[in-house]
Amino acid sequence: MLKELFQRSKKIVIKIGSNTLTGEDGFVSKNYLNEIASQVNDEIKQGKRILIVSSGARVSGLSAINKWARKADLHYKQALCAIGQVELMDSWRRAFAEHSVHVGQILLTKDDFSDAYRTLNIRNTLFTLMDEGVVPIVNENDTTCVEEIKIGDNDNLAALTAILWGADLLVVLSDIVGVFNKNPKQHPDAEFIETIENFEELQAKIQSSGTSDFGTGGIQTKIEAAKKVAAYGIPMVLANGKMPLVLKTLSEGNARATRFLPAAFQSAL
Ligand code: ADP
Repeated sequence: MLKELFQRSKKIVIKIGSNTLTGEDGFVSKNYLNEIASQVNDEIKQGKRILIVSSGARVSGLSAINKWARKADLHYKQALCAIGQVELMDSWRRAFAEHSVHVGQILLTKDDFSDAYRTLNIRNTLFTLMDEGVVPIVNENDTTCVEEIKIGDNDNLAALTAILWGADLLVVLSDIVGVFNKNPKQHPDAEFIETIENFEELQAKIQSSGTSDFGTGGIQTKIEAAKKVAAYGIPMVLANGKMPLVLKTLSEGNARATRFLPAAFQSAL
């Protein structure tokens, strides 16, 4: 079923969380980015179109200017992200250059999704990049966003981007294999939920608390993202981004992952 989901999807948004991009040393892992770039390149060669929503600006900023780690002031946080975004994109650019693939940076804000003129421009840019075989890498524009006007987490940003682009599938790569009835890091007896078709039932069934070290939203923002895309008929897969050959393994249906299926898919798969 996971395999069918991937096979029928041509336009795929892949969201990668900070903790997934980060190695044990707390820095963005170049090896990991290289592996993802190589797998994305394989998918493109098979006719897929891939857009990446990449977290990691803050972590990358900290590795560039570690002495700012304790600066709590909002402007310092935003400045750190501005520095880190360059580092992050440089790492992505190098990873994809190994395959002669260009990347394009798209920084978005909440307002971009509610203004028809802006959405049209973003869509046109995305289509042009895709037509030319470029991989767009999306992140929230932290420089212009203060807390009140922020999307705030990249799960929801990925969902909005998937809707705007008209994606066939949203893949959220996190540090967890999927949704459990309670946080498995705190409760070893937590039960894994493989398929989610009904969001009301899900909310009644699960408890959520905690995020990973650099995580922002935890499981709740992933569920919000799934709900958003489901309203547009787009399914979502939540999987452990650290599993070896993650995209290949998922597309061959050989991994444990949670599938969120919108109503239109429930009879088709
Ligand atoms: P990311 O950085 O990939 O966005 P987050 O740390 O924000 O990841 O969210 C994933 C974390 O959510 C997991 O590592 C886990 O600790 C936590 N979590 C809380 N409740 C649950 C649950 N019911 N099922 C799965 N994960 C949960």
